[in-house]
Amino acid sequence: MTHDSEYMEGALESNTGLKYRIAPITENGNNGYVIRPKGVNEGLFKIKVVYRNNSKLIAEFTPLDAQFTKSMDYSDEYRKELFSKYAQELEKNGRCSISINDNPLMPPYSDWPSSVSSLTVNLSRIVDSSTTDIIQLTVEWVTKIILLISSLLNFEQIYDDSVFIADGAETVVTQNKYERNPLNRKACLMIRGYSCAVCGFNFVDRYGPVGKDFIHVHHITPVSKLKGETPINPIKDLIPVCPNCHYMLHKRDPPYTVDELKTMLRN
Ligand SMILES: [Zn+2]
Ligand SMILES: [Zn+2]
Repeated sequence: MTHDSEYMEGALESNTGLKYRIAPITENGNNGYVIRPKGVNEGLFKIKVVYRNNSKLIAEFTPLDAQFTKSMDYSDEYRKELFSKYAQELEKNGRCSISINDNPLMPPYSDWPSSVSSLTVNLSRIVDSSTTDIIQLTVEWVTKIILLISSLLNFEQIYDDSVFIADGAETVVTQNKYERNPLNRKACLMIRGYSCAVCGFNFVDRYGPVGKDFIHVHHITPVSKLKGETPINPIKDLIPVCPNCHYMLHKRDPPYTVDELKTMLRN
């Protein structure tokens, strides 16, 4: 169990850029985990995952800090759009129920009350333990729940920069922090997939399993053009590109557009 917790802490950190503390629990004879952020985000929320009667996986997100709930911003159209997209993505995983102020929020998950004092997210699905890797599924669910919540926050606010200093050995120096932020990256790739938006190159198709999850992410709007604290919309602002095309996009400053580079491609 300890080994699994450590594995999940590592996997979640690389997926989201945040650090977690994961403790195994037993609840009414069922095994599970409680996942809490560690470091700068400590005490903000917890996600409990319980594997009930060895047949049903249940995940519950609960904020633990009233300020944290208040800091969520439900006002922007772009945040609503992101939240709605991620919630629909969660729905694909199982039965998803989101409630705000103890009232259910119904699909397409965009009809919010004007003020929010509580928010919970529950996810459940029947799973067959002989065919499903519960640990992998837990990592996947928790990542998507974090993405959903992060759509209501300023990404930069909850993202611990130190993770990236440690991970600074990027081969393409032009990749900026928005492109490297794993939450932004996950969000972009979850919606757009892993094929290059310019040439269509897909690493799994070409290299097999070793190419899994490999692709660069490019920021469409030059970062120098971003005004101050303009929030990033990972779906609109970021695109997956292969390292070759990424390099070519940055041969000019400001970078070429995807369409410009596409017209330069030769068969
Ligand atoms: Zn490409
Ligand atoms: Zn780029």
